[in-house]
Amino acid sequence: MSASVINGKVFADNLRNQLSEIVSKLKKPHAVQPTLAVLLVGNDPASKVYVKNKIKLTNEVGMQSRHIRLPEESSEASILEHVRALNEDEDIDGIPVQLPLPREVNSDRVIVEINPSTDVDGLTEVSAGRFVLGASGLRPCTPTGCVMLAEDALGELSGKHCVIIGRSILVGKPAALLFLEQNRTVTIAHSRTMNLEAECKRANILVAAVGRAEMVKSSWVKDGACVIDVGINRVPNPDKLGKTKLVGDVDYQDAAQNAGSITPVPDGVGPMTISCLLHNTLIAAHNRRSIDLPPSLKDV
Ligand code: NDP
Repeated sequence: MSASVINGKVFADNLRNQLSEIVSKLKKPHAVQPTLAVLLVGNDPASKVYVKNKIKLTNEVGMQSRHIRLPEESSEASILEHVRALNEDEDIDGIPVQLPLPREVNSDRVIVEINPSTDVDGLTEVSAGRFVLGASGLRPCTPTGCVMLAEDALGELSGKHCVIIGRSILVGKPAALLFLEQNRTVTIAHSRTMNLEAECKRANILVAAVGRAEMVKSSWVKDGACVIDVGINRVPNPDKLGKTKLVGDVDYQDAAQNAGSITPVPDGVGPMTISCLLHNTLIAAHNRRSIDLPPSLKDV
């Protein structure tokens, strides 16, 4: 294996340390303590873990957290009422709604209700519109984490070719736009793409956001490419009978033979998502109060 490992956990920890310093500076001259209100509907076990982590890490960087927990059988109308109440609470800087919502609830109608100034997931129509227009705004968290890790691994790479497998609104599409903003030459691949392997093999940066365990093999990876694996797939663990393990969309051991740098799963892109959520919350906290963004917050 020749690739260097991109340690997303260490990067995400460092990012939160930087955010923590900015939070303490907000407290002193401005008497502001940013607040994140996480809305969870139902009992999905993975969602509960994500929300617990969001709250823990929010508190660790010195921000305040609120946990709004609604029962599985909540009606769409009552969820919307809660979102509206959070919108009206001036102390709240970020309102991440934990997805997926129960099947009976229309997620789009809930997300569109979030005040764009507190849309720290970057998913409302206003945030998406500003993003496409190239205007400033809150960008989706997981794709932002991908770009941060790729930049850290590669530095300035204007014009280089980035292939993203996946075109979801949560990951693939926003990742493509973000890499485009970085002046990469971007190809978006998906389930209808012809010659997928050959497309991927052209990439200097290959981002896999597919949801198919270990799909990307070494033969798909150009020598020296940076491979960013967004996938989180639970598969049977051959070493522990009856147990499962997490793998990405990239066959890590195999792809690492060709890659120059590669994110592992776990501890690659995954830990970046919450750190980027907190990053967005701090941006929102400054913008909502018309406080100038510190240069370090713009840069991170
Ligand atoms: P979606 O299911 O919404 O999108 C998957 C995309 O992959 C689609 O665009 C689909 O194409 C494409 N695709 C599916 N099969 C193939 C194939 N055989 N060849 C080429 N393309 C294919 O998933 P998400 O974008 O939400 O998530 C992707 C992965 O990232 C998942 O494993 C998810 O768990 C993980 N994830 C990780 C996060 C993190 O924090 N690390 C956060 C969010 C997601 P088409 O559009 O044509 O159907």
